[in-house]
Amino acid sequence: MEEVIIIGTGCAGYTAAIYTARANLSPLILSGTQPGGQLTTTTEVENFPGHPDGIMGPELMQRMEQQATKFGARIEYVSVDSVQKLDDGSFALKAGEKTFEAKTVIVATGAAPRHLGLPNEKELIGRGLTSCATCDGAFYRDVPVCVIGGGDSACEEADFLTRFASKVYLIHRRDELRASKIMADRVLANEKIEPVWNSGVSEYLTNDKGEMRAVKLKSTLDGSEKELEVECVFVAIGHIPNSAFVGDLVDLDDNGYILQKPGRTATKTPGLFAAGDVADHYYRQAITAAGQGCAAALEAERYLSEN
Ligand code: NAP
Repeated sequence: MEEVIIIGTGCAGYTAAIYTARANLSPLILSGTQPGGQLTTTTEVENFPGHPDGIMGPELMQRMEQQATKFGARIEYVSVDSVQKLDDGSFALKAGEKTFEAKTVIVATGAAPRHLGLPNEKELIGRGLTSCATCDGAFYRDVPVCVIGGGDSACEEADFLTRFASKVYLIHRRDELRASKIMADRVLANEKIEPVWNSGVSEYLTNDKGEMRAVKLKSTLDGSEKELEVECVFVAIGHIPNSAFVGDLVDLDDNGYILQKPGRTATKTPGLFAAGDVADHYYRQAITAAGQGCAAALEAERYLSEN
């Protein structure tokens, strides 16, 4: 029986691991399907304190992992399917054929990129449809591409893609970006980026090899439609929290984010804590996720000493 199991290897998970490891709780981390979390798909992180010259997302996550394992955290590369509370108050976690048991659990599973829900989406992933410019941008040199969305992610992706693509269309459903001013200004000043305002994508159009050829744009003002030729679509319209596997041990808000007790990381189930993007629809920053990971570790530690 583990003292604490941490599910997830993003900023929240690793910070919880560093704190619980240093408290001699020998935490077990269950990695999830994307070891290192969302920062492994970004480029330079300029706003994580302590890195005045910026740091690449994957490197930051590698360093967090090193820091956690240095103090005795262990990692199993599995994905948890379900969590159950047992009669003695402990937890059983199923991951494929494996079962893990723990006195406390910290859920730090983050969120996954949202897609539009168009019919041929699944077949197109990897064939001109992606949500990761860092992963796939370099495959689309000297061809037109588009980014869907108007937030910081969309702007960051669009800016990054100008290194490769001949042209980057930024398709947004309104005529004003949601992104922070610094990001919006950077994007709007970039000559390679052409904003396509008041528009949504209603169809992904393919060539005879089944690869992305163009998108059908639909005006959000008058419903008129037109085609825009692009070889790759980068979707950046927000995220869906990875919370479904926890079942009714937690309450969720309307968008699937885990509800915590006010000002805490505790959930409605004693001994079960939630930290980072899986529970935070408001800040969603690396540093706030790390802060919540720390808070969850301190709460788990306190729970263990009181029970
Ligand atoms: P976001 O801020 O929620 O923006 C999502 C964007 O997608 C919005 O512009 C939204 O349009 C649009 N959208 C949502 N659903 C859509 C749909 N079905 N069809 C078309 N468009 C849709 O998400 P995000 O950009 O991923 O950012 C998440 C958080 O991370 C934010 O707090 C952001 O500041 C932060 N972040 C920070 C950095 C950085 O500081 N370097 C980088 C990336 C992200 P509307 O505007 O009309 O709602």
